[in-house]
Amino acid sequence: MAATWVESLRPLQKIDMRIRGLNCKKRIVPGEIAKLNAEGMASKQSVLDAKAAIQNVERKIHQNENRMSGLEDEIRRLQQKTPMIKKNTEYQAMLVEIEKRKRAIGECESDILQLLDAVEAAKVAYRKCYKEAENKIASVKTQIAEYKLLLSDIDQELAELAEKRIDAGRKIDQVLLARYNALLNANDGEPLTQVLDGTCSNCNLKLTPQTMMIVRKGGEAVCDNCGHFVYSEEAQL
Ligand SMILES: [Zn+2]
Repeated sequence: MAATWVESLRPLQKIDMRIRGLNCKKRIVPGEIAKLNAEGMASKQSVLDAKAAIQNVERKIHQNENRMSGLEDEIRRLQQKTPMIKKNTEYQAMLVEIEKRKRAIGECESDILQLLDAVEAAKVAYRKCYKEAENKIASVKTQIAEYKLLLSDIDQELAELAEKRIDAGRKIDQVLLARYNALLNANDGEPLTQVLDGTCSNCNLKLTPQTMMIVRKGGEAVCDNCGHFVYSEEAQL
C-alpha cells in the first residue's frame, strides 16, 4: 500500500489535475469563439460579394442600354440631315455610317441578352449564398452560446474546486504541501508520481538505488532527475 503522506496528497492532486484540465479548456475557448466570429463575418462578406456581382452585371446592362440609346440618337441625327445631302457619294457614306451604328446596336442587344442570363445566374448564386450564410450564422451563434455556457460551467466548477482544494490542503503537512505546491506550479507534470519498474512516471528516468530504498520504505522520496515526489503502491510500511 502507499504511505500516509502519499494518501494525504492524492486527493489534492486529483483536484489540482481537474483544475489544470479546466483551465486548459478555458484557455482555448476565446480562440474558438474568435474563429467562429471570423467564419460568421466571412459568410456575411460572401453575401455582400454575391450582391455586388449582381449589381456589377446590372451596371453593364445599363451601360449597354445607354450606348444603344446614344447610337439611336446618332442615327436619328444622321437621318435628319438626309434632305440636305446633294451628292450621291455623301448619301452612300451616310448610309454606311447608319449601318455601322445599327450593327453596334445589334451587338449591344446580344450583349444584353447574355448579361440578362448572367444576372439570373448571379441572382441564383446570391440566393444560395444567402441561404448558406443564414444557416452558417445561426450555427455560429449557437456554437458561441454553447461556448459561453461551457465557460460559465467551468468557472462554477473552478470556484467549487478552489473550496475543495482548501479543505484538502488542511489535511496535509504544511512543509509537504509547500513543496507539493512548488512542483505543481513549476511544470505540467503531476507533483506526485508513481514509480513503475524503478522508473519515475513523470520524467521516465531510472531512480538511483538509494532513492528506490526510500520509495520501498514509503519515505518522502523525490526523483533524482525531476525532483517530483515518487512513491510506490507496494511500499513496505
Ligand atoms: Zn522524475
